[in-house]
Amino acid sequence: MKRNRLSVDQYVSGILSGDRMVLSRAITLVESTLESDQMLADKVMEKVIPYSGNSIRIGITGVPGVGKSTFIEAFGIRVIEDGHKLAVLAVDPSSQNSGGSILGDKTRMEKLSADKRAYIRPSPAGTTLGGVSAKTREAMILCEAAGFDVIFIETVGVGQSEISVRGMVDFFLLLMLAGAGDELQGIKKGIIEMCDALVINKADGENVEASKKAKREYANALHLFPLKENGWTPKVKMSSALSGEGLQDIWEMIGTFIEQVKSKGYFESNRASQRVNWLHEHISFMLTSRFYQDKDIKAVLNASLEDVRKGKLSSITLGRTLVERFIRKNED
Ligand code: GDP
Repeated sequence: MKRNRLSVDQYVSGILSGDRMVLSRAITLVESTLESDQMLADKVMEKVIPYSGNSIRIGITGVPGVGKSTFIEAFGIRVIEDGHKLAVLAVDPSSQNSGGSILGDKTRMEKLSADKRAYIRPSPAGTTLGGVSAKTREAMILCEAAGFDVIFIETVGVGQSEISVRGMVDFFLLLMLAGAGDELQGIKKGIIEMCDALVINKADGENVEASKKAKREYANALHLFPLKENGWTPKVKMSSALSGEGLQDIWEMIGTFIEQVKSKGYFESNRASQRVNWLHEHISFMLTSRFYQDKDIKAVLNASLEDVRKGKLSSITLGRTLVERFIRKNED
């Protein structure tokens, strides 16, 4: 990695003036696991946080193949044509294994990536899920400070990453496909419960009839879920990135949602509790990364791992010994 870092003020002024190069470098800094980078990143974050938050944060999820990237490209164009600046971030824990990322392929979202009004950032590879989502939240703040007022956070899959993303967005959109009957296509009930809108995607050509049927079925299914605290009833919509059908409607629905939750004070109270959760996540992230980066801890851990594997030493005993050792070392 190149080590020519900017100063805190250079990062901050670059970000606030909307310099995309500096924004990208700041996100890379935030994603770095080096402690010296993290300290610098924290200083940058502290200075830009007051300029963040003025955006609509939208989580978009759905199983691979549902058409997420095509949807984000078409929907994103709609959003920027409405006068917004859009940042697209991805949370993709699977990229740890492949070394790539869902947004790594440059051919995806070609139009959006070529448009100055949009900024696309693949997910950081090589971190734990907790790390990925912690960094995504910080990347989102940096993008907002750089003037992006609509943020899409894309997740792939149907599990833990959706829960993390739900905790950092205002609106959560789940893409589904028609034709799977009553089956929920491997999407866990919990994910459906979290969504503010369920969109039947690829509703074009021969799919239209099946999509209408699926829309009715999901609308019925959603009725069975308890009413949300914010008073919003999740909507079921259809969309096609190919024909453009439904995209405007979805964008207007999000506008209505934001207006409604803002007028009831729920928008701010949701953001407030998300900030508190962020605090706790950040504490555990910092503690964990400092712990595992500690040379002494690393040495003892590596030396004893085999004994734990063989059952000669209990996980509890070693865990306690290591944590106590870490605390003692860090006592003033
Ligand atoms: P992702 O894996 O969820 O990101 O899915 P992609 O966006 O890569 O799309 C998967 C496949 O579905 C591609 O072959 C697309 O051309 C196709 N697809 C995406 N959106 C639509 C759509 O609105 N209608 C139709 N008919 N096909 C689509």
